[in-house]
Amino acid sequence: MGGLTSALCPVLERCDGVWVSWNPNALGSEDDDDHIREHQGDGIPFPVIQVGLRKAEVRGYYNGFCNRALWPLCHTVLRCVTPRLDYWQDFRTINDRFADVIASRSRSCDVIWIHDYHLMLVPAAMRRRLDPKHRIGYFHHVPFPNVRVLKAFPWHRQLLKGLLGADSIGFHTPDYASNFIECCNELLGCDTRSEPGTINHGKYRTVVRARPIGVDAKSFQALAEQRDVQNDAIEIRRKHRCERFVLSVDRLDYTKGILERIEAIRALFARIPQCRGIVTFMQVAVPTRTDVPEYQQYRAKVEAAVDALNAEFSHDDWKPMIYRNEPMDRRELVAHYIAADVTCVTPLADGMNLVASEYCASRSDGDGCLVLSSQAGAATTLGEHALSVDVRKQESIINGILQALTMSEAERAQRMAKLRSVVLNNTTDSWLAKCLGDIQQPQPAEPDELAALIKSGHARRGDGAERARPGASRERPATHSSRVPAKRAPAVNAPPPH
Ligand code: ADP
Repeated sequence: MGGLTSALCPVLERCDGVWVSWNPNALGSEDDDDHIREHQGDGIPFPVIQVGLRKAEVRGYYNGFCNRALWPLCHTVLRCVTPRLDYWQDFRTINDRFADVIASRSRSCDVIWIHDYHLMLVPAAMRRRLDPKHRIGYFHHVPFPNVRVLKAFPWHRQLLKGLLGADSIGFHTPDYASNFIECCNELLGCDTRSEPGTINHGKYRTVVRARPIGVDAKSFQALAEQRDVQNDAIEIRRKHRCERFVLSVDRLDYTKGILERIEAIRALFARIPQCRGIVTFMQVAVPTRTDVPEYQQYRAKVEAAVDALNAEFSHDDWKPMIYRNEPMDRRELVAHYIAADVTCVTPLADGMNLVASEYCASRSDGDGCLVLSSQAGAATTLGEHALSVDVRKQESIINGILQALTMSEAERAQRMAKLRSVVLNNTTDSWLAKCLGDIQQPQPAEPDELAALIKSGHARRGDGAERARPGASRERPATHSSRVPAKRAPAVNAPPPH
C-alpha cells in the first residue's frame, strides 16, 4: 500500500519491464543461500525477480536503516532518526545483494531504473559491476533534506556517492533536486557549475531533474463516471449522516500530520458549535511499518485522539469522526473521493502525495475542494489552485477547512477545473516518458525547470547550511550553475553511533 506501488505497477505493465523486488520471507537460516526467486503469475502482469532477505536482515535493513533512519532523515523528523551502525551494515549488505542480482540478469541494452531511498547505494554498486554502456536511473520518491540536516548524518558521504552512480536522478520538486545538488557541492566537493542541473564527479556526470509524479488520471476518472460507483458515494453519505463530508486518506505515518489535523478539528468543533451534527470527518488511516516502535506509538496516539474527539462531541447517532484503518479497493476509494465535499491532505512533509491528485482526477463532476499542505511535494503543482495551509499552525488548518466548507459553488468549480487540468496533463505516462528520456538521453534542463532551480537556489542563500560551511563566502553566486565547488567535504566528527 502506498504511492510508489500505485505509480509503478501501471508503468511496468506498459513498458515490458521486469521488477526486481525484495522477498522478506525468503531466507530462513544463516546458511540458506538460495536468495533469488523468479516468478510470473499470481495476478501480477509482469515478471518479478525476488531478492531474498533473512528475518534479521529485514529488522536491520528495512525496519531499521530504511524506516528508522532514512525515512525520518529525508522528512526532517530528526527526533525519530536512529542511525545505528548495525542497521547501516545491513543496509550496505542488502544494497550489494540487489546489485549482484541485477548485474547477473542484465543485458547491456537494458535500462536499469532504481527506486527510492531503500536502494540509495545501488546506483554506485551497479556502476562498479557493469560497463559504462549501461544506462542507470534513480528516482527519489521522498523529500531530499538540506545540507544542514544531511551533514549531521554519519553516512552522508556514502549515501551521496551511492546515488552518483546513476546517469540521471529524479526528484519530485525543484527544491529537493536543488538540496541534492547543494549537498554534492558542499559535502563532496563536486563541480555543479559547468551546466545547470548537472553534477560532474571524476570522469562521470549525473543529470538531476525535478520530475513530479502524476497519477493514472483516466482510470480514476473512468471509475468516477460509473453509475454504481456514484451510487456508492450517495450511500456513503447517507450511511454516515453527512450533510458536509470531509475526507482524509493516509498511511498511518507520523509525517502525514494526522494527529495535528485531529487536534485542529477538535478546536474547530469547540469554537464553532454550529458545525456539530453537520460536518462529518472521515479519517482513513492504513497501518504501515507496524514492527517499528515509532509507528506503534503514533498509531496509539492517533486512535486515542479519535476516541477523545468522538467522546467529546458525538450526539444522537452523529459522530464527528469516522475512523477506518483497513485498505480499500480502488473502486471504494473513488466512491469516497466523489462523496467528499472536501479532501484534506495536510502532511508535515511528503515527497509528493498522490491522494491529492487522485481526488482531483476523480472529480469529473467538477465539484469538490482540496485543502493542501504547503509542505507536500504536490503543493508545487497543485498548491496555486488548492486551499494551501501551513500545517505548523493550527489556525491555518482550521481556516483552510472552514474556507473550503463555505466556498461558493462557482469558486469551487473554478478551482477544481484548474486542479484537474494540472492532474490530467501530468499523468504517470508523461512522468514515465520524461524520466526514461532523462536516463537514456539527457537533454538540457527546460527553461521553466531551470527558473525553478535558480529560484530555490536564491531562496536558500545565506541560510544555516551556508553559514555552517567553514570559510563559505556569503557573497557567493546564487545559482547552482555558478556555485564554487567545495575543495573537500567538511568533516563530520561524530563517530557512527551503535
Ligand atoms: P505515500 O507514498 O507516503 O504512501 P501517497 O499519498 O503518495 O503517500 O500514496 C498513498 C497511496 O496509497 C495512494 O495511491 C492511495 O490511494 C493509497 N492508499 C492510501 N490509503 C489507502 C487505503 N485505505 N486503501 C487503499 N488505498 C490507499
